[in-house]
Amino acid sequence: MSLNNKVACPLDCYDACQAEIIEENIKGSKEHKTTNGKLCVNFANLLKEENLETAYFNNEKISLDESLNILVEKLKSTTPAKTLFYKGSGNLGVMQSAPKNFFTQYGSTLTRGSLCDGGGGAGIEAGRTNVINPPLEKLLNADVIVVWGRNFTETSSHLYNLVKDKTFVTIDPVSTEIAKKSKIHMQINPKTDYELALLFTRFAYMQDLEDKEFIEEFGNGADWFFDVARNRPVVSYEATTGVPLSQVNDFFDLIENKSVAIVLGLGVQKYFEGAQITRCIDSFAAYMGYHKKEAGGVWYLSDSNFGYEKQFEIKGANKKVSIPKVNFGSYDLVFIQGANPVVSHPNTKKVIEGLKDTFVVYFGTTYNDTCEYANLIIPSSSFLSKKDVRLSYGHEYKSISNIVKEKNPNTITEYELASFLIEQFGFEKLKEEDEIISYYENHKPTLEEFETFEFVEEVDIEPLYKEKTSDNFYLITAKHKNSLNSQFAKDDFVYLNSATNFNNGDIVNISSKYGNAQFEVKINDDIKENCAFFYAGNKKVNYLTPNEEDESSFSAMYQEVLIEIELS
Ligand code: SF4
Repeated sequence: MSLNNKVACPLDCYDACQAEIIEENIKGSKEHKTTNGKLCVNFANLLKEENLETAYFNNEKISLDESLNILVEKLKSTTPAKTLFYKGSGNLGVMQSAPKNFFTQYGSTLTRGSLCDGGGGAGIEAGRTNVINPPLEKLLNADVIVVWGRNFTETSSHLYNLVKDKTFVTIDPVSTEIAKKSKIHMQINPKTDYELALLFTRFAYMQDLEDKEFIEEFGNGADWFFDVARNRPVVSYEATTGVPLSQVNDFFDLIENKSVAIVLGLGVQKYFEGAQITRCIDSFAAYMGYHKKEAGGVWYLSDSNFGYEKQFEIKGANKKVSIPKVNFGSYDLVFIQGANPVVSHPNTKKVIEGLKDTFVVYFGTTYNDTCEYANLIIPSSSFLSKKDVRLSYGHEYKSISNIVKEKNPNTITEYELASFLIEQFGFEKLKEEDEIISYYENHKPTLEEFETFEFVEEVDIEPLYKEKTSDNFYLITAKHKNSLNSQFAKDDFVYLNSATNFNNGDIVNISSKYGNAQFEVKINDDIKENCAFFYAGNKKVNYLTPNEEDESSFSAMYQEVLIEIELS
């Protein structure tokens, strides 16, 4: 198969699949280890999407050239620091970073932190410097896989396929598909994952299962960590986590003398102290020596750029604003690339108010909810019509994208837009497109292992259960099988357990201290009684979530909230 027939799936997903065109059909690559010849329903949805075919200015169709001229004129007449560059994860190819290079040189305000994995990443970095996953081989060779706060069958369906015959343990407030396939499902209370990690540590010590050699050779502060774990009676953990001690016993019976992989999801870290929570889990893994065994280890969202030199990065003295706290209305111009903040940013009401109060430029492939507030829409070329490379945050394999479909001449790629703007403003040029692609294609990063592990020595976390009453609920979100964040999402229900006394079809008003919205109820006993569950991409759920940053990484903390539900 010619290399020119290959296309990378651009979607925000662990698997980062490689597709190829075979006799005019698009199929999953067989030679790409994780894709293994199959693509998923989201990829099929992506191919069916209606792409933007023309530019718009104040809802009127205009030509691409006209849209670019308007953008240049606006940028020339606006104070750079009063503009905001806001990039989403609609397409995760490396070439998508080109526009940021221009906006950095121009002097725009940039965002920092993350709406996704930032807190957890900070927790892992605090213990072992780099957020990188072990080689996939170590997952394939593990005996037991602990799926911790991750909807593994939905968010990493290809990775799951490679290990589906293993023994699973799931830790999740929801009885997910993987929970149902697991030997043990600990249906934990939200935001108590660090307590469970401490309880595990306590059990490991009691059963003499800690890895003394690892602790001796690589560990710093293991004694302090253990002191934190034994600070309170074992039985007290049962009440707060909702996990029976008998299940913890069963868990230790199951993992004794086994190689264990922990696949950690985003669920555990969507809180103010997300970094500390993740670090407690990673410290438990270190206490067991999982990080240095022949098989097993801890998988999170790896830094997919690790070991690569960022080809578009340029130094600038730009002002940076924490992404969850962005106030769109405080800028004269907001440039939104491949994002849908009206649905996916916390505190939807504030987002909409802000967007109404500024000049919004939207640059993306499809018309989304945010486009309703855009003054200028510039259509980006389809992923089938531009060169790119997709690195993965789930495994070490990359996917290559070639041009397999003629480009719509009314659209522009990210690289072309950045180059055009750079030329208009006389800024420093980008490297040649082919040089950048070839760098990513040919560079193989060396993933150096850490030499010291810093155990968490002090834990200061305010649990949500202190504020929880019998009348309010934890808010939890997870990805749907048939959508990715706000892309392709069509499910705006609230899911509740039947023990809540609500019924299918009830219309409820749900409120938090950040806002309120109406939802239709669906009853589902997979959801824990004290939780209200929403699929990511639900158009109204972010009316309830905080536009505030976590304590350590300028990142969002969507689940740091309790909500009240009333029949409307
Ligand atoms: S599993 Fe993920 S990367 Fe693979 S085709 Fe589906 S959305 Fe794309």
